[in-house]
Amino acid sequence: MEESVANNADLRRLIEGNKRYISSNLKHPGRSSERRFELKHGQHPFAIILGCSDSRVPPEVLFDQGLGDLYVVRVAGNVVGKMIVASIEYAVLHLNVSLIMVMGHSQCGAVKATCDDEKLEGSLPSLTSALSPAFNSAKDMPGNLIENVAIANIRNVVKELGQTGVNFSEMIESGKLTIVPAYYNIGTGKVDLL
Ligand SMILES: [Zn+2]
Repeated sequence: MEESVANNADLRRLIEGNKRYISSNLKHPGRSSERRFELKHGQHPFAIILGCSDSRVPPEVLFDQGLGDLYVVRVAGNVVGKMIVASIEYAVLHLNVSLIMVMGHSQCGAVKATCDDEKLEGSLPSLTSALSPAFNSAKDMPGNLIENVAIANIRNVVKELGQTGVNFSEMIESGKLTIVPAYYNIGTGKVDLL
């Protein structure tokens, strides 16, 4: 994955922002009123982040980015579904964003609830059922169950997005689109590419 970071300027920009965040050397780019005015004419984000809704994982903060930089889709457990795919298709096909990062994280409540097989109310079972393929594939792996399931889900979502997004598989093949799996550690602040 180191090689892909070196070859992809957008991915490098994310990783460099995360390094600033970890070292408390933040630039806080793109928060000025000038930037806000500039964006009145349209948006040209450089990356799409599909992440979890967890309040501890806001992409603009942990990648040290500003207004108009990131196109963010957040849903508990960073799962996919039709509306999620549609939101991402909009950014790929209409905003010409060529990098998608699927970012799961440590201590994820949605993953934990799936592993604990909790009885949940309302619409919550739709989230755990979206995570159940990851649970089934990772449940017998050695190591930390919640981390293993979170990582299996990230990989499943990368694959599913590549297959279901309109034209995505052709774009990936021709190098016009990259989808990267990543894991954020809540304790250290570091985003690792998987
Ligand atoms: Zn989460």
